[in-house]
Amino acid sequence: MLLTYRYRVKDATAGKHLSGMARAVNTVWNFCGGIQNDSRRLNRRWPSAFDLIGLTNGSSKELGLHSDTIQAVCKQFAVSRDAAHRRPRWRVSRGPKRSLGWVPFQCDRPLKIAGDTVKCLGRRYRVWLSRPIPEDIRSGSFSQDTTGRWYLNLVCRVADDLPAGTGEVGIDLGLNTLAAVSSGEKIRNPRHIRKAATKLARAQRAGRKKLARKIHRKVAAQRRHFLHVTSTHIVRANALICVGDVNSAALARTRMAKSVLDAGWSALRSMLRYKTAMRHGARFVDTNERYSSQVCSGCHAVSGPRGLKDLGVRNWVCSECGVSHDRDTNAALNILVSGRNVALHRPEIPAL
Ligand SMILES: [Zn+2]
Repeated sequence: MLLTYRYRVKDATAGKHLSGMARAVNTVWNFCGGIQNDSRRLNRRWPSAFDLIGLTNGSSKELGLHSDTIQAVCKQFAVSRDAAHRRPRWRVSRGPKRSLGWVPFQCDRPLKIAGDTVKCLGRRYRVWLSRPIPEDIRSGSFSQDTTGRWYLNLVCRVADDLPAGTGEVGIDLGLNTLAAVSSGEKIRNPRHIRKAATKLARAQRAGRKKLARKIHRKVAAQRRHFLHVTSTHIVRANALICVGDVNSAALARTRMAKSVLDAGWSALRSMLRYKTAMRHGARFVDTNERYSSQVCSGCHAVSGPRGLKDLGVRNWVCSECGVSHDRDTNAALNILVSGRNVALHRPEIPAL
């Protein structure tokens, strides 16, 4: 499968150069848009990527852009247009609505990589080696974030036949802890956002937009890192991974919104899903978690806390079999049972 690895570009002087190239990229992109408009007005067929490349041929020197980048822009234009069935937005180089910088390139020939230096588009770029640069690079781009920092993105082919673990696990995504695992383990939510919230609020009140953005970005990076470590750890150990289908989009509109957004459920879920897909024989199952907190995982009696009024109940004792349960661990165990049923093509929720 294809994955994109992202590296922060180190060299302070490269930023200026990249921004210049990004403006030229916008020119090419908008040129493609103009051609698109013309062909529509003249009732001609839409230009293909090949047509666009032909029309931009020879503009490399004048634009100060590598021909490889011009071709990549034309190709991406055609792909975006065909996906949306209409002309993509114009790219804006200046002003408050400026598009974030983007400079794509193709990798028909292997990139020259030496340590933390990558040579592409006729120039050397130094990056922070947050992880080793992989071998099989298919394409790449430079892109800018909202604070103006540049990143090198490399799309790589990654083996998707890694061996799977042997365990089976049910995961209940929660608010108090990020997730409860059926083994009884709890994954604590580091709550970076809340810790930084006071700092962030202060920065916003003082109108320090730049600082606020900086705090935001740091928190986002820390959370992403934590979720990657957590999901890799889970996927390595297990062959069956079942996750409750919490609707985070719906919950994010309620009073609990802050926690939901903080927790990063959907990010964790999608990481678990694609990382499972890379492992041969491993399986990811989304299960219905409707009854997961109400049913006793020991005797399957519906004796647990119900509805909104019992939302605060953390521990309970089953009135049928007398086993005492931790709410979240019990839910994770039920999710595992449902997931096993799905994997075996049985009804997901056993008859209650
Ligand atoms: Zn019971």
